[in-house]
Amino acid sequence: MADTILVTGGTGYIGGEVIHLLLAAGKTVHTTVRNVSKSEPRLRARWPDAGERLKLFQADLMDDAGWAEACAGADAVAHVASPFPLAVPKDENELIVPARDGALRAVRFAHEAGITRFVLTSSVAAIVYGHGDDRESFTQDDWTVVEHPRVAAYAKSKTIAERSARDWVAEHAPDMVFCSINPAAVFGPVVNDDLSTSIEVVQKMLDGSIPLLPHMGLGVIDVRDVAQAHVAALEAPAAKVRDGRFPVQEKFMWLSEMSKALRTLAPELSGKAPTKGMPNFLVKLLAPFSAEMNTMKNELGKARVVDGAHAAKTLGLTYISAEQSLEDTARSLVKHGILKV
Ligand code: NAP
Repeated sequence: MADTILVTGGTGYIGGEVIHLLLAAGKTVHTTVRNVSKSEPRLRARWPDAGERLKLFQADLMDDAGWAEACAGADAVAHVASPFPLAVPKDENELIVPARDGALRAVRFAHEAGITRFVLTSSVAAIVYGHGDDRESFTQDDWTVVEHPRVAAYAKSKTIAERSARDWVAEHAPDMVFCSINPAAVFGPVVNDDLSTSIEVVQKMLDGSIPLLPHMGLGVIDVRDVAQAHVAALEAPAAKVRDGRFPVQEKFMWLSEMSKALRTLAPELSGKAPTKGMPNFLVKLLAPFSAEMNTMKNELGKARVVDGAHAAKTLGLTYISAEQSLEDTARSLVKHGILKV
């Protein structure tokens, strides 16, 4: 395997976990952050022994500055950085442009630096949307239909970014070994109070800010498995992963099942976890007044089961159970003082 890896988005939940595994395996890690002086103390505190094996570079997805330096000397890239907000933006281009241009920028600078392995963090959001109301099962062969009127900005951003990067590599860097990891909603232990949007779902369930559960669900995967998938994709023989697409999802759960699992496995933390459902009519009633409710409205009653078996088999993963992942999320939120019970 490569000795020096560039992981973009080192401040992020997934990016941090990928760095963690790589440093533990003795690798040298370059990482991009938007503000080195702000992020360096936090990253050094997490890996106090990394020393020279961890190098920070200032680079934004929207700007060329810093990318050549970050790529120089690296053998492979895990491109994880991309906007992932909870709020729905007024203009979808706030997500689409940095996701697409950032992926293109990362792959272009990687190619110019002679890097021949590139792993892109995509999402099941680039797989499951816009296929019509009856589809419930999906594989790596499915692509979100971005032209569909009900596909949300985030799903568009991930689909367009993944497509654009794949097309660019096919045209300009056919020798590059490119593949994507497409995670479902990511849960598992948090390491600080900079929470990823997915984690906020559990936080809000437990702190009482979601009193009623809309009848919708999420595919669940643990952050440790997502990181392991990236590392496996970085080190697998080229023929196994070239042009590959690896959805990672342990299973689909309704929000009511997630709440029940938390109440069962961590009852002392789950006193405020919702037990009642929000009637569909209420979600629809509130939809015109809230962009989030409007997105939820399109998800009511929809199961989206993505097959994680292909990734597990090719990359040698044994998924942590969704229930374990949720319990570990909850306990880590308490451990870091984020959730008060
Ligand atoms: P996160 O904790 O919010 O991390 C996002 C990272 O992207 C942060 O490091 C952030 O940097 C960086 N970033 C955002 N906009 C940027 C910009 N304009 N320039 C440079 N860096 C920028 O989220 P995460 O959960 O780790 O997500 C990481 C990746 O996984 C994303 O590509 C996301 O789409 C994908 N994903 C996540 C999930 C999930 O459920 N968590 C599921 C599927 C796919 P700052 O710290 O400076 O903001």
